[in-house]
Amino acid sequence: MFQLTIWSAPPIVAAAIAMAAFLRARKRTNAPGGTALRFLFLMLFFWSAAQGVATLVTSPAAIMLASQFAYVGIALTPVAWFLFALTYSQRVLKISRHALNTVSIIPMITLTLALTNPWHGLIWKHWEITGTGGFIGFKTEHGFWFFVHAVYSYVLILTATAILGFALTQFKQHYQTLLAVIFAPLIAVVANLLYLSPMNPYPWLDFTPMGFVLGVVILDMGVMREGLLNSIPVVRDAVVEQLKDPVLVIDHSGQIIDANQSALAAWGGRQSMRNTRVDQFISSVPTTSLLSSRKNSEVTINGRAYEIASTELDPTNAQSNVALVFRDVSERRAAEYALKEAKEELERMAHTDALTNMFNRRFFMQRLGEEYERVRRHGSVLSVLIFDLDHFKQINDNYGHDAGDAVLVGVSAAVNQVKRVTDIACRLGGEEFALLLPETARPGAIHLAQRLRRSIRDYPYQVYAEDKLKVTASVGVATVSAGAKPPESLLKVADRALYKAKASGRDRVCVEEDLS
Ligand code: GH3
Ligand code: MG
Ligand code: MG
Repeated sequence: MFQLTIWSAPPIVAAAIAMAAFLRARKRTNAPGGTALRFLFLMLFFWSAAQGVATLVTSPAAIMLASQFAYVGIALTPVAWFLFALTYSQRVLKISRHALNTVSIIPMITLTLALTNPWHGLIWKHWEITGTGGFIGFKTEHGFWFFVHAVYSYVLILTATAILGFALTQFKQHYQTLLAVIFAPLIAVVANLLYLSPMNPYPWLDFTPMGFVLGVVILDMGVMREGLLNSIPVVRDAVVEQLKDPVLVIDHSGQIIDANQSALAAWGGRQSMRNTRVDQFISSVPTTSLLSSRKNSEVTINGRAYEIASTELDPTNAQSNVALVFRDVSERRAAEYALKEAKEELERMAHTDALTNMFNRRFFMQRLGEEYERVRRHGSVLSVLIFDLDHFKQINDNYGHDAGDAVLVGVSAAVNQVKRVTDIACRLGGEEFALLLPETARPGAIHLAQRLRRSIRDYPYQVYAEDKLKVTASVGVATVSAGAKPPESLLKVADRALYKAKASGRDRVCVEEDLS
């Protein structure tokens, strides 16, 4: 009834490994290809376990029954591999039920025919007892449908492997994965060809499932457990590929080894990325600081500003590859720049007179306070000129208000002709102006006041008039040096001097007493 021989060992060991791998893979059902991988292990378990049972029993009916049940695994293993290849490579993100049903049609027919073989012999045409050293097994002659199944399975497995292989050739660090992925079905195929070969010295035992288990376990251990971007292109496909942010992976020497779609689209395609060093690409930031996870850098590439976040992919490894995620901050930077400009413009407007573009009274008072403070602290000297246009009302009355405005603009130009860069000129209001002259003692201030007076008088005002337009100004000068009174009084003193200039005939400069 039963036999215990060495021939039971391979399928039972394979079944045990497949079951163990199936249970262990439970944790990874969320990983790409994880569910398909479990399904694959389960089918390999069925296949190996049924074969194991077939080697344990001796009655032909029992051997046949076990061989029939092995077809659950035999028929569906290629489907499982196909599913794994597609989900692992992310060619198909979610395999449609329809596609799954379609690839499963022939395997389902195969399974049905295997279970109903006694009625038609389409899987096994003929079988006979064979064996060695007391072991009893079957040597079978396969029926027509078996070859349909065999061809179909080969096509399915090879197609899936080619798809997966192609997906993995995209980047060079996946070559190891690629080898493992091709190696797994290769072992199975070699074992299967041996089994089907007429020269097979062990016709009673099909080594295909053992080969498959071995290959897939190697694949699982060697590849599935490794790092995220290194070995699971699918995770990259699903997450990194969909990221709007460009992502580069660089190795410890700064070589670019991977790039997502956004990076390729932004920076010139795969060919230009391959075998490129990151410092050829980003010269403004040293590679060492890109390799450091702790630091965020900002760079400009092709006129766009990016903030780079570096992440070591394997923090336990000093030579780890590093993912660089580029966040495009161009818009933010442009908005910040516009805001800064607007703020500066607002500030400028807050202390500028709109008509003449000179400083306004508020700014003048502020600067007067500051300059006065300097005089007090450092013992320097400061002068101020106040000047008022003479009979300006008449200009308005004779030529109109617009002409008056044009004269005021002309006066500011006349002031600019004589003032030094350190002097601060402002329109206090109406047709009254002031000049703040830091580090200027009374003689210098008077000298400047006279030049100013002449400049205003001689300026070619752009106002239509039959005779030459007569624009003059009266100027009051006041000076302060260390140990003097508060700033308001300086203006008051200058104002008094101005009043004196007006009273004594206009178009002249008058001076009040020095405040010190
Ligand atoms: P005085 O020599 O005594 O200074 O005579 P004035 O006519 O200049 O003196 P007053 O202060 O009486 O008149 C100033 C005139 O300046 C009154 C106003 O019509 C004119 N004015 C003040 N601000 C402006 C301005 O922004 N534009 C124009 N066009 N005229 C202005
Ligand atoms: Mg006036
Ligand atoms: Mg006035």
